[in-house]
Amino acid sequence: MLKLVHLTILISFLSQASIYHRADFLYISLILGVLAIVFGVNVVAHRYIGHESFQASGPITCILLGWFSYLGLDSPIFYNQLHQRHHFNSDRLGDPHSPHQRSAWLLPLRIFFLKFPPVPIHFRILKRQLRRPYFKFFHRWRYGIPFLAMFLLASLGSLSAVFYFMTVPSLFALFGQLMQVFLGHASRLNSQSTQDRSSDSVLMNLLTLGEGLHHSHHIHPRRIFQKMDNPLLFDFTGWLILKIPFFQKDSKI
Ligand SMILES: [Zn+2]
Ligand SMILES: [Zn+2]
Repeated sequence: MLKLVHLTILISFLSQASIYHRADFLYISLILGVLAIVFGVNVVAHRYIGHESFQASGPITCILLGWFSYLGLDSPIFYNQLHQRHHFNSDRLGDPHSPHQRSAWLLPLRIFFLKFPPVPIHFRILKRQLRRPYFKFFHRWRYGIPFLAMFLLASLGSLSAVFYFMTVPSLFALFGQLMQVFLGHASRLNSQSTQDRSSDSVLMNLLTLGEGLHHSHHIHPRRIFQKMDNPLLFDFTGWLILKIPFFQKDSKI
């Protein structure tokens, strides 16, 4: 993610003169940015890679994981490890990104300038992830795919195409991830039922475009759709997964 964002920003600075003249690219990049949050972070990263809330056929899996890689979200195996750690140890020692640990507030800076803190590998989870279709492939090609896409965009389009079609959506994805990490656990109160500090948040639901039911999600991590009376807490991600016919849903989840 970092290398991709850094490199594309560098490229975009080099091509600065042309960037500001592409209003048509700007509209496309904003659409891609919304897709990066809704599909990249919410549906693919969180619900599919993180929780296996649904299954998909081979070609659809390749599209989903390809989009995840394109956005520079790194390895699906690493993402799953990180997210499972977060659920096992929410707001306790071992949570890789609880906002209640002082170090977490440096996370955006770390993500942008350095690299994500290493997470100890959980071998039982790793074994399961390695068996999931195409996970090994997209793990190996986690840098290759975005760099190849960048190269194609730069050679077929222009350098500003790299900025609009890769940098902007990647930054949207980064924003969506940070909102989930921070707003989902921003509550100061300890929750009775799960011992973590996750909370359902209207603000988070609006900013993440449908992933604000974080406390409900911690109680039922694999549940596809969380029903809420408050329309501002509509589980848009879950609704979308239910509506997409290509996704195979287990009726027990
Ligand atoms: Zn959480
Ligand atoms: Zn989760």
